[in-house]
Amino acid sequence: MSELRRLDRLYQDIVLDHYRNPRNSERLSQPSAEASIDNPFCGDEVTVQLDAQGETVDPVAVFGRGCSISQASASLMSETITGKSSREIREIAGAFHRLMRGECLSDREREALGELLALEDVRKYPVRIKCALLGWGALDDALDRLDRV
Ligand code: ZN
Repeated sequence: MSELRRLDRLYQDIVLDHYRNPRNSERLSQPSAEASIDNPFCGDEVTVQLDAQGETVDPVAVFGRGCSISQASASLMSETITGKSSREIREIAGAFHRLMRGECLSDREREALGELLALEDVRKYPVRIKCALLGWGALDDALDRLDRV
């Protein structure tokens, strides 16, 4: 198997693992902020709940239903943003949107995205980009609500 094929397989394995075993899916009893979003075209739904410890967002809960891309993206997102400030989270979200648009990212941005880079190939399938971004839309709404708390 070529180096690239191996990398492809690794990325697919990460996405499938997060779809089958979603992280941070335990609902919070009293989240500081919560937002839900759905994509009526394919039936995907994601809810994001955030709690804040001072400047830090922690814990984070995400849950929903739908295709593997939407659910894996939300699960990967939850792992990446937990323990970050809302400013850092907005930077990560900006980098992920740019990744989906096929823009070039700096090494620093790629490092910040970490395992989320497993979703990089989704940008080759325009209809699936919406699926990958669904949880990020809910995150954006939840962050706006958190900032107003
Ligand atoms: Zn979908």
